[in-house]
Amino acid sequence: MHVLILGGTTEARRLAELLAVDALPGLRVTTSLAGRVTAPRLPPGEVRVGGFGGADGLAAWLTEHRVGAVVDATHPFAGVMSVHAVTAAATARIPLLALRRPGWTPVAGDVWHEAGSLEEAAGLLPSLGRRVFLTTGRMGLPAFADLDDLWFLVRSVDAPGAPAPSRREVLLDRGPFTLDGERELLRRHRIDVVVTKDSGGAATAPKLTAAREAGLPVVVVRRPPVPAGVRVVGGPEQARDWLRRAGDLRTGE
Ligand code: NAP
Repeated sequence: MHVLILGGTTEARRLAELLAVDALPGLRVTTSLAGRVTAPRLPPGEVRVGGFGGADGLAAWLTEHRVGAVVDATHPFAGVMSVHAVTAAATARIPLLALRRPGWTPVAGDVWHEAGSLEEAAGLLPSLGRRVFLTTGRMGLPAFADLDDLWFLVRSVDAPGAPAPSRREVLLDRGPFTLDGERELLRRHRIDVVVTKDSGGAATAPKLTAAREAGLPVVVVRRPPVPAGVRVVGGPEQARDWLRRAGDLRTGE
């Protein structure tokens, strides 16, 4: 069976690693990356890079490459790709699984402000502080570009382009991050407020702990919903088990 993993996350890479260790005879694994990051961490197995050309292009790719199952292991905020995956898998008549790491939940001492979008998060900021630690990724910077009265520490994997906030310092870095490191960033840059997507996972969670300790508010952007009707698992091991079962069904074992 040929499995397509829609990737770009730690979990997608981990799933490809688990399948490589399994080394099931006849199993072919391709991970697809959007191509946003200059030097991505590559998973084992085959890798393809770049968009498919919408849901129709993805459906055609699935058929042409005889894909037997798709795992949508994209980032929880890659909402467009997740919708395309549903349409394309239905068109190609193959099973689809969504692999989503669980979101974060506040604990005692957290001061979280939920926002439904990056634009809503930007609207909340002027009432919360003047020095902002912005960790929502370079693609989302335009939403904050008009906040000329605020100063931003922007952390992203690759350098952001325009439009972006005029008063900013850019920190190029990629998780996992440590609690000590996050404490130090908040202190050194005299941060008043942190902005994050609800990405979930351990790699970028220490900023939440550091903010809690410092009594700082955090603006948390809510995830888009997983498309209705899609089966969801929370971890790579469960996705591997689902694929094993899908493979058994196809071979009639
Ligand atoms: P998106 O808005 O949902 O998708 C936009 C377009 O990018 C899609 O229509 C598709 O182009 C292409 N695309 C997205 N994921 C792809 C993949 N895995 N393989 C091939 N093409 C893909 O996606 P996004 O939010 O820009 O995220 C892009 C990638 O970065 C994803 O792989 C995601 O896992 C990763 N990522 C995203 C975030 C985030 O916060 N959004 C954070 C970390 C990593 P076509 O229509 O041409 O097929």
